[in-house]
Amino acid sequence: MGCMKELHNELHRHCALLLGVKSPWEVTGVELDMAARRVEIGLGWGRGHEVTCPECGKRCVMADHAPERTWRHLDTMQFETRIRARTPRSRCPEHGVKTVVVPWAEPGSRFTLLFERLAIDVLLACRSLTQACDLLRLDWDAVQRIMDRAVRRGLKRRDIEGLAHVGIDEKSFGSGQSYISLLSDLDGSRVLEVVEGCDQQTAEALWRSLPEEQRRGIVAVALDMAPAFIAASRAAVPQADRVHDKFHVAKHLNEAVDAVRRAEHKDLMAQGDETLKHTRQLWLFNPLHFTEEKAADFEHLKWSGLKVARAWAIEELLSKLWNYCYEGSARKFFKHWYGRAARSKLKPVIKVARMLKRHLENILTCLRHRITNAVTEGLNSKIQSIKSNARGFRSFQNYRTRILFFCGKLALQPL
Ligand SMILES: [Zn+2]
Repeated sequence: MGCMKELHNELHRHCALLLGVKSPWEVTGVELDMAARRVEIGLGWGRGHEVTCPECGKRCVMADHAPERTWRHLDTMQFETRIRARTPRSRCPEHGVKTVVVPWAEPGSRFTLLFERLAIDVLLACRSLTQACDLLRLDWDAVQRIMDRAVRRGLKRRDIEGLAHVGIDEKSFGSGQSYISLLSDLDGSRVLEVVEGCDQQTAEALWRSLPEEQRRGIVAVALDMAPAFIAASRAAVPQADRVHDKFHVAKHLNEAVDAVRRAEHKDLMAQGDETLKHTRQLWLFNPLHFTEEKAADFEHLKWSGLKVARAWAIEELLSKLWNYCYEGSARKFFKHWYGRAARSKLKPVIKVARMLKRHLENILTCLRHRITNAVTEGLNSKIQSIKSNARGFRSFQNYRTRILFFCGKLALQPL
């Protein structure tokens, strides 16, 4: 009997050591369920110890114990491990009866800090959320809650002092016609805030997410030529240069080239000509990244004299604009380019050329700042994978959390 008791004490001490449990918390019991492959460790508050009020930190008397709760902990030898405890409640003269904070978990969490730490590492390392859920043996809601808490922690700790170059961008969200807008720190390559929508109110909300002091320090903002974004930025950061960077310019020209291709393909097909079939990607992507076979196809198309080939050449020509160092020569070059675009008789190209001409001053600011929304462009693929992995991905709030979790460069860990 004595021997048995000693063995028990030894086991409790061992568990306490594993958990890092310190007085007045002590291990009160260890239950091993071989069939369910589960360990449950009971913890208790040592008799006669004082408690402190979680609000003010003052020592006070213990009122009672909260109902029993369990927390999922790191597995022990592949056994799912849970901590079970009744937490004491303090009676503070000022704050009344409060549940004391346990050292192994955050208030409201069903997981220990160490488990959350592991879960965050697993989530960051996994290619998909499904894989992370499987590895952690957690459902979507549990994973979402861990991410929510991690992002809240990260935002609280985030330092945005000295913010100078930012970008505003819109992205489509979900399968419908919904949009989200993002504010990113171009120097830090991180997403700062995500808001639902893509109108002027959305852009205003993005700017409001920055403290006044940070807004005043902004030197330049990279953004699209959409009037709503321009108006909101002019009002929120009047001192900052607006820059329509090369990604935004290319986006509009890409759309023009694609519109020309679609119309021409339709005409050709009507005559039974399949020349442009399956060529959409060829016109949209950089020939430098083509395979040999594709490059040969494209070389042939490029010199075909087709309308889409002319549109593509005009787009390609404008990319030289970014190589200029002096505003005067860049302006001259643009004038030359504009003349060629205007004479092209390609309606979609002419329309975009006119828009670029209207916004030329804020395109040329690019030569001064050399900023691009490459950050958000790079995030595209990341965000895309968050989206495509997002089974059970229901609300905008969940999506925002995921973007900030993966692309916010936040200090997410609880310890
Ligand atoms: Zn108190």
